[in-house]
Amino acid sequence: MATVEPTPRTTIRRKPGRGNYDRHAIEAILDEGFLCDVAVVVDGRPLVIPTAYARNGKWLYLHGARNNAMLRAVLEGEACISVTLLDGLVLARSVLHHSMNYRSVVLFGQGEEITAREQKFQAMRCIVEHIIPGRWDDARIPNDAEADATLVIRFPIDECSAKTRTGPPVDDDADMSLPIWAGVLPTRPAWLQPEPDPLLPANVPVPDYVAKYSRPKQGSMSDALPRVVTRPMQFENGAAIGVSNRWHKGQYCSIFTKAGIVGCGIYDMATPTEFGQAIAIARGTPQHPLVEPEDLLEAKIVDATGPARAAGIEIGMTGRQAVEKLLSLDVG
Ligand SMILES: Cc1cc2nc3c(=O)[nH]c(=O)nc-3n(C[C@H](O)[C@H](O)[C@H](O)COP(=O)(O)OP(=O)(O)OC[C@H]3O[C@@H](n4cnc5c(N)ncnc54)[C@H](O)[C@@H]3O)c2cc1C
Repeated sequence: MATVEPTPRTTIRRKPGRGNYDRHAIEAILDEGFLCDVAVVVDGRPLVIPTAYARNGKWLYLHGARNNAMLRAVLEGEACISVTLLDGLVLARSVLHHSMNYRSVVLFGQGEEITAREQKFQAMRCIVEHIIPGRWDDARIPNDAEADATLVIRFPIDECSAKTRTGPPVDDDADMSLPIWAGVLPTRPAWLQPEPDPLLPANVPVPDYVAKYSRPKQGSMSDALPRVVTRPMQFENGAAIGVSNRWHKGQYCSIFTKAGIVGCGIYDMATPTEFGQAIAIARGTPQHPLVEPEDLLEAKIVDATGPARAAGIEIGMTGRQAVEKLLSLDVG
């Protein structure tokens, strides 16, 4: 596992179990988002500015007008950048235990201007394609004067941390019997019908990449590659790894624990049974397809190998209950 080295300022002190320094997990969050908040000090005062970004390898690209104060400060001194993906509102029985499910990244560092023409255009293309793939080749690209007026910066993805909260609220034992609804209100970005510019000639069709736009596209900077995403998931009985894979017309999601797997039903049960593996299969529905590992949590278990049943997993329980059963096994 490729990890980034925590430094004194990226060491998570508050709820360290939610921290993550796995480079793939950090990159997956950066790839899913495209908006960040950039914090700098300008004239001795703090300044936080929201802006767009893209990731390319171990660099984050930022761009803007040449005289942009925030970008100039990123070039001249230290900056701190954060990216937040909101996954849900966590409603607890007690007001003070309310929370949010999220995945976020914090980066520290100093930017460098990209001046070489070819690299600068490549970085601008990367930003556009990261936000809406297909747009760069469709829209008019910047001319030299426009490119000269644009500052393009690369920022290292080096000194950084990720933090993730998943799962239900954590209430005090004394509050558990209160008749107050508690749980998670999940959220995902929704893209609505495109609204053509009123000045657009009627014969210009909506491009496919607009009509069929969807996120996330984490884990891959290229349409030529399948999407492979892993992320840590926290449960009452411990931590697990959520996996979501997508390829042409295919998808698979699963939650890996040390003792076994809860996954969607793409694989047969004969092989894991033969090898004595604890595997439980959940089924999606047209209304609730299984794409992301979180989708498994409320889905019903429809099959389980002998070792999974021995762990207490029963047909009809939820994916979350099955994961908790696996996490409660002592496998050393
Ligand atoms: C959508 C959302 C809502 C939140 N709401 C609240 C809230 O209402 N109240 C609250 O106290 N906290 C909230 N948090 C958590 C918050 O981001 C901090 O993690 C927390 O407040 C602890 O702050 P601290 O300064 O004590 O962190 P410390 O643990 O002391 O931070 C040390 C280092 O850990 C890393 N780090 C800390 N937080 C994060 C993070 N979120 N993502 C990535 N790296 C991080 C940074 O490198 C930081 O420099 C929220 C987070 C998100 C994403």
